[in-house]
Amino acid sequence: MAVCLREIVLRGRKQRKESEVAAIEEDTTQELSVGELLERANRDRTSREKAIIVRGLESFSSFSCIRFRPYRSGDREWLNIESRNGCYSYVGRTGGGQTVSLSRQGCLYHNTVQHELLHALGFNHEQTRNDRDNHIRVHWNNIIDDMKYNFNKIATLNQGTSYDYNSVMQYHRYAFSKNNYPTMEPIPNSNVSFGKATEMSKNDIDRLNRLYKCCENQWPP
Ligand SMILES: [Zn+2]
Repeated sequence: MAVCLREIVLRGRKQRKESEVAAIEEDTTQELSVGELLERANRDRTSREKAIIVRGLESFSSFSCIRFRPYRSGDREWLNIESRNGCYSYVGRTGGGQTVSLSRQGCLYHNTVQHELLHALGFNHEQTRNDRDNHIRVHWNNIIDDMKYNFNKIATLNQGTSYDYNSVMQYHRYAFSKNNYPTMEPIPNSNVSFGKATEMSKNDIDRLNRLYKCCENQWPP
């Protein structure tokens, strides 16, 4: 049922050449698949790179009501998936177009694609959860000074899910370390593995479905 779906709009990245910009703008009246959109809009990426992004985008339809679809005339908010400097996204909607950067250097992994899309969908890093001090000890002295803000706590909602070391939003033990010592350790057992998710966890999926009020039993379609 359509009412159960939440559509997230993707738009072709503007190209350097004017002629290519025009070509993409014209395409917006057509009904492209996500794969076709990326094919046209990311010509500087290889097929393999685009396949990783498409797989990440399409994975959401297998466990949630989120559907990424190409821009249509009249859409007011959309994501531009670009290869800028690094892997990043705003958290949540900013209005109009917003960038999700998946650099060719270091961002083309399934977990990274899901991670950045979850930011755009409104989710913060797991270690910023309001209850993280019960689960993670932050070693501030080991963090690169400019990066300390990544470890600030946020008044997260959590959607009734527990803290999850296997969340795709959880940084790893040495994230932003300036001295090769851990920047985070789990509590109470510091040997517990964390921050190694290769894909979204059950908790990541539950949070997404709760935030977007996905209807139950509507997926896989
Ligand atoms: Zn992130």
